[in-house]
Amino acid sequence: MMLRPFSKSGSFYKGNLHGHSSNSDGKFSVSEVIDAYKKRGYDFTCISDHLWIDNRFCAETVTDASKYNTHNFIAINSAELHTRGKKYDKENLWHLVANGLSKDFKPSNDEENIQDLIKRAKGDGAFISIAHPEWYSLTFDEAIMLKDCHSVEIYNHASTVKCNRGSGIYIADFLLNENVKTLLTSTDDSHSLEEDAYGGWVFVKTKELNEKKILKSLIKGDYYSSTGVVIYEVKLEKRLLKLKFSSSNNIMVSGAGHTNISSHGYNLTNAELDLENFDSPFFRITISNQFGKYAWTNPYWFNELDLD
Ligand SMILES: [Zn+2]
Ligand SMILES: [Zn+2]
Repeated sequence: MMLRPFSKSGSFYKGNLHGHSSNSDGKFSVSEVIDAYKKRGYDFTCISDHLWIDNRFCAETVTDASKYNTHNFIAINSAELHTRGKKYDKENLWHLVANGLSKDFKPSNDEENIQDLIKRAKGDGAFISIAHPEWYSLTFDEAIMLKDCHSVEIYNHASTVKCNRGSGIYIADFLLNENVKTLLTSTDDSHSLEEDAYGGWVFVKTKELNEKKILKSLIKGDYYSSTGVVIYEVKLEKRLLKLKFSSSNNIMVSGAGHTNISSHGYNLTNAELDLENFDSPFFRITISNQFGKYAWTNPYWFNELDLD
């Protein structure tokens, strides 16, 4: 059987979930950011300006970019949410990316704790990601406090190119080991359109390009993350995994603890891996090419798959 999102009807839409404009600490205006992503071939982007009570680097309202929407490009109202309580952050602030917020969503304040903020943003219908875990040394104790978020940013492009702290895989795998059904995202966190843009994105499978459909597919996990590798098919026949993808060298399947199997070669475009003895309740697939570009599927849980 074909696994999601490849089993879903519709098309793949490419989008950046995390980026800033001059409404907070970004360099370019909302319309400049949108034009740039549009020209680069994206189908949607999210202007997730910092939303917090400190106006030195934060906006006081959600950036409403929907007026720039056209038939083939949309901006999803978003914000990077903050509230106090994060260890190791210079300002003691938590960072969460919320995609699909209503434009009157209020900034947090000193009274609201992180769980209440997550609850409020989810209640607003947003897709919430744990932002850049490695960039600000998110601890395991802190990650478990964020388990109600939908996803973990496993690749943050700005943190990768600015300080080589762009991964979130260790936090995602920790949560998966704790049986938290987290999803994974790859994002830019672009503050300019120069060094930190167009590095990490998601391909969302849905029937139409509109905010509601994209959000619904994100929340259901009907998407995969990429920095340059394209995945065409993920099939599971009994326990034989069959993959098709753009030219790559390393195909890796990871599960609980240190469970993994992998397959390697030059310029491969398909692979088969036998999961018969794969001792884990879940697996996720990572594919990388010779240029150091990646694609990551969301985790699959065996007990949710209808296997014979
Ligand atoms: Zn941040
Ligand atoms: Zn950010």
